[in-house]
Amino acid sequence: MGKKVSLLKPLLPSLDEFIPSLHEIWGNQWLTNDGDFHNRLEEELKSFLGVPNLLLMTNGTLPIMTALHALKVRGEVITTPYSFVGTTHAITWQGLKPVFADVEATTGCIDPQRIEDAITPQTEAILAVHIYGQPCDIENIRDIASRHELKVIYDAAHAFGVKKDGKSILNEGDVSTLSFHATKVFNTAEGGALITKDSEICDIVRNLRNFGIESETEVACPGINSKMDELRSALGLANLRHVEETIAARSEVHTLYRNQLADIEGIDLLPIYHDISYNYGYFPIRINEILFGRSRDEVYDELKEKGITTRRYFYPLISNLPFYSGIPSADASNLPEANRWSETVLCLPCHHLLSEEDVYSVSEALKEAKR
Ligand SMILES: *Cc1c(COP(=O)(O)O)cnc(C)c1O
Repeated sequence: MGKKVSLLKPLLPSLDEFIPSLHEIWGNQWLTNDGDFHNRLEEELKSFLGVPNLLLMTNGTLPIMTALHALKVRGEVITTPYSFVGTTHAITWQGLKPVFADVEATTGCIDPQRIEDAITPQTEAILAVHIYGQPCDIENIRDIASRHELKVIYDAAHAFGVKKDGKSILNEGDVSTLSFHATKVFNTAEGGALITKDSEICDIVRNLRNFGIESETEVACPGINSKMDELRSALGLANLRHVEETIAARSEVHTLYRNQLADIEGIDLLPIYHDISYNYGYFPIRINEILFGRSRDEVYDELKEKGITTRRYFYPLISNLPFYSGIPSADASNLPEANRWSETVLCLPCHHLLSEEDVYSVSEALKEAKR
């Protein structure tokens, strides 16, 4: 077995860089509820991301739930089964009905035509995911939503900093949500944010994230607690100083992988669109078993034996989980492309500390796995 290659490493500031913030927090004697670090992180993120309103939260699932709540969505929500489970769980926790629509073969993002096919009189919203940071078909989703008067929420957990034609994609839809989990391009250990152009929705959500409390004596509504504390806000501020370097380092990893893997029969890579600036968060490949001569799971096992950690992101498919598989739209015959993605995808190690040598050894191991 060669040198171990890990799937990811979290972005972290040096301890020396972080310690002064701890002194400041101890000095302030203020740990949460609109603290200095919290408010600074909100301001800096708005300007870094190019969005008018951004509300920090404790993770990336609560903003999805809060968006559905604040937009007063009832009934059915059309969504993709090809995502992290949190996406569909957020719909379920709001007491709503997820309706699965299939994804595009090329990108793995929800297919607008299949959204349109899934609309019923009960449909009130679309919850789409910019999977691996690739923008969904935003124009067509906007068009469908306006013709059928549906709300649009983008789970943009993978799309931190992603731009199309120089503009942030986080301003699309009624609401976009981010996750700042340790595994994401930008992290606060656990954390997330809700983004909306609509300042009224922003005010509603600001109130909702602190129990609905208006003042010492007034509570406007039954809200929730999703406030981010000062410690994690300080981590976010420190990490934000390094996020551009991180994205640049990841971009180099992508270029190296693409050079190594482009001509291997049976390995498919994601398409590149030149109007998009990516964050290079993931490097998914798809194994075509017939052309590659090995199944995805065989490749996964062989790389693991060599000390290379990869992930079957996203497997199992959400619609195949026992508590969702009974939904009529969860049937595999309705979701052929999503099932194919889930059975063929493998995310390769991809992070800002991955060396050129690591990329070569992963690529070599893939070449050796081929039959
Ligand atoms: C990470 C992730 C989430 C959940 O974010 P948490 O911060 O872990 O709650 C939701 N959707 C997608 C697509 C994700 O990758």
